[in-house]
Amino acid sequence: MPPADTPHSRRAKRPAPKIIIFDVDGVLVDVRESFHRTLIETVLHFTGKRVSPAEIHQWKNRSGFNDDWTLSHAWVQSLGFKNSYDEVKSKFVEIYWGAGGKPGNARRERWLLPEAELRRLAKLAELGLFTGRVRRELDFTLARVRLRDAFRHIVTVEDVSRPKPDPEGLLAILNGRDPATAVYLGDNIDDARAAQAAGVPFLGVLPYRSQARAHRAKSLSDLGALSILGSVRQLGPWLRTNTISAQTNSSRVSKQRR
Ligand SMILES: [Mg+2]
Repeated sequence: MPPADTPHSRRAKRPAPKIIIFDVDGVLVDVRESFHRTLIETVLHFTGKRVSPAEIHQWKNRSGFNDDWTLSHAWVQSLGFKNSYDEVKSKFVEIYWGAGGKPGNARRERWLLPEAELRRLAKLAELGLFTGRVRRELDFTLARVRLRDAFRHIVTVEDVSRPKPDPEGLLAILNGRDPATAVYLGDNIDDARAAQAAGVPFLGVLPYRSQARAHRAKSLSDLGALSILGSVRQLGPWLRTNTISAQTNSSRVSKQRR
């Protein structure tokens, strides 16, 4: 058995990804005060019941509830109310964007990856976004943080015929390139399923000591996550520890040949 730190163990490192694809909500953006708050207020509006953030995570631990319109409608129905999908969705949209002079929850979201770190990653790999958001919701955020140009390919739910967990969006970004050269960062079961179906390595992102982590870390690991980061800010350090850049790789090969 070789000692722990030998070229042997270092060879277990993966090649650095050439394409880094991010899910948006829960990964690049903290949506507890925007989308999650809107979910709670929408369910409260129709049912009179104030549901909890912990219950949101129980729903989101199941496949098919990445979309908050679908989730609010299913939740209202599950509490015994017969309101239609369109009715629930339009109330959700109203609470999220604001109406009648009342500001919406959209502006309460928080961008999580500092610009300098994002720009550094953009030098290491091509960056992309694959999100369950509609274009308007994504545009609002990217315009606010002024980081749209960092992302080479952007796929919203409106750009695909089948949403996550279908891999269509990831395959569109790959456009025939080897899925093993990419990595997808997500926080939901459907993100991990989409990655698995596309053959793209997956990194989970769930804040330490959060309800999301308590509810989903094991499921994401079971679906093949390479690791479960505590924050998207840990991506840089994770890449440095767990991957070898092409440069390092070739210098090692030439050393072995000598
Ligand atoms: Mg997400």
